[in-house]
Amino acid sequence: MTTEAQRALPVGDLAAAVDGPVFVPSDAGFGDEVTGFNLAHLPTPAVVVGATGAQDVAAAVRWAARHGLHVAVQATGHGLTSDLDDVLLVSTRRMTDLAVDPVARLARAGAGVRWRAVIDAAAPHGLAPLNGSSSGIGVVGYTTGGGLGPLARRHGFAADHVTRFEIVTADGRVRQVDAASDPDLFWAVRGGRESFGIVTWIEFGLVAQPRFHGGGIFFPGERADRLLHAWRDWAPRLGEDTSTSIALLALPPDPALPPPLQGRFVVHLRFAHLGDAGEGERLLAPMRAIAEPLLDGVAEMPWAGVDAVHMDPTAPMPVWDRGVGLGSLPAEAVDAILTEAGPDSSSPLVLVELRLLGGALARPAAVPNAVAGRDAAFSLYCLGVPAGPEAAVAVPARATALIEAVRPWTAGGLVALAGQAGPDPVVALWDDDDRALLRELKRRYDPAGVLGGPVRA
Ligand SMILES: Cc1cc2nc3c(=O)[nH]c(=O)nc-3n(C[C@H](O)[C@H](O)[C@H](O)COP(=O)(O)OP(=O)(O)OC[C@H]3O[C@@H](n4cnc5c(N)ncnc54)[C@H](O)[C@@H]3O)c2cc1C
Repeated sequence: MTTEAQRALPVGDLAAAVDGPVFVPSDAGFGDEVTGFNLAHLPTPAVVVGATGAQDVAAAVRWAARHGLHVAVQATGHGLTSDLDDVLLVSTRRMTDLAVDPVARLARAGAGVRWRAVIDAAAPHGLAPLNGSSSGIGVVGYTTGGGLGPLARRHGFAADHVTRFEIVTADGRVRQVDAASDPDLFWAVRGGRESFGIVTWIEFGLVAQPRFHGGGIFFPGERADRLLHAWRDWAPRLGEDTSTSIALLALPPDPALPPPLQGRFVVHLRFAHLGDAGEGERLLAPMRAIAEPLLDGVAEMPWAGVDAVHMDPTAPMPVWDRGVGLGSLPAEAVDAILTEAGPDSSSPLVLVELRLLGGALARPAAVPNAVAGRDAAFSLYCLGVPAGPEAAVAVPARATALIEAVRPWTAGGLVALAGQAGPDPVVALWDDDDRALLRELKRRYDPAGVLGGPVRA
């Protein structure tokens, strides 16, 4: 979008049609409105609408379509994958309505709600949502991409628990959708992300999980070889009540980190067990025996402490990420990962993570949905900080080399963890039948391609 074209846009019409603020790039509030978690992509949309509700979203979508702009949506900026030129960006951060019904075990979250708010509202009732590794992530973006969290091997993807949602489709209509009212749209949005509309609120089931036994154990990076090989043997033997991942982390010399971790290359074993603490300790014993931990944070804790499992960064930072699914994890695959990203690899990646999938993740949802990646036994995800011209080249290059190195074992993958894969590899994550149906539904609900998202008509 050129500056000239921006001037030609009748933004005053849009401002009159919505309750929330409207920003163009020259406005003082524009930068704050578009800046989210991932600082690697500072979006430069032609116009941003700070939506306050479904009517604002609908007016913005209709206005964008009238003026030949595409529409994108952002809540927190954790999942930003493009620079968002030539678009109207709907910013949902003001849409923070949240209600928890402890009797029905349901929560209803506006498009701007983050998991932390749901966790805290559900906790007094002994309930928990199917949030992911970081409670700072947005409920809607995470859930519509599938949503893989520490309860997932027992309960499945977050998208499997959605009961209803409200969505603004490309024609600007506000629709309330459930399995009975529009089974096709209900199927597609739970896994197909923003390709079919902008979700304004989402209702989903909560599970009874007041406490769990878990956390993270940090080991010296020099033991990465033994630890990763031990994990690939140990993890698949765990039951569905236990989730685990293991990460190679290049930690910064940050004084906010515990002293034994500052500036070190470490192995981070993550563990979440839904049964009792004694059983959790017994299950962990073989991994604890591999090496002396630098720091052991596994304990029984309330679900509200779940961020302690992954200890993801919370402050905005530049991120370049990529992920794939793996059908198996033989010794050769672990060796390939260590060659590209191990302690002697000079890798610029700051995180390389293997998550155990399987259990309920491998089974279809009670009401089928478009979640991709159920065939994968593991997820491999990596992330670098592309700060500065050297890292901006080295990080994507090494991430791509890592993904290439595990190609013999690759099996699909998760849309929410695909990172900067680009639209074609993301669309390839769905099997042929699901991809064909998604494209057919894209033609039905967004024939002019007003909305972005991985699915194209
Ligand atoms: C540090 C970190 C940890 C993560 N951990 C996990 C994890 O444990 N499990 C997991 O599954 N994923 C994880 N993710 C991936 C995350 O789920 C996705 O990036 C998700 O899309 C983020 O959603 P958001 O709303 O927070 O981000 P945003 O950048 O605001 O949105 C990302 C995308 O979500 C979609 N979206 C957002 N709002 C709407 C809406 N109202 N309607 C339709 N589509 C919408 C759009 O496609 C949008 O481009 C992680 C990401 C990061 C950066």
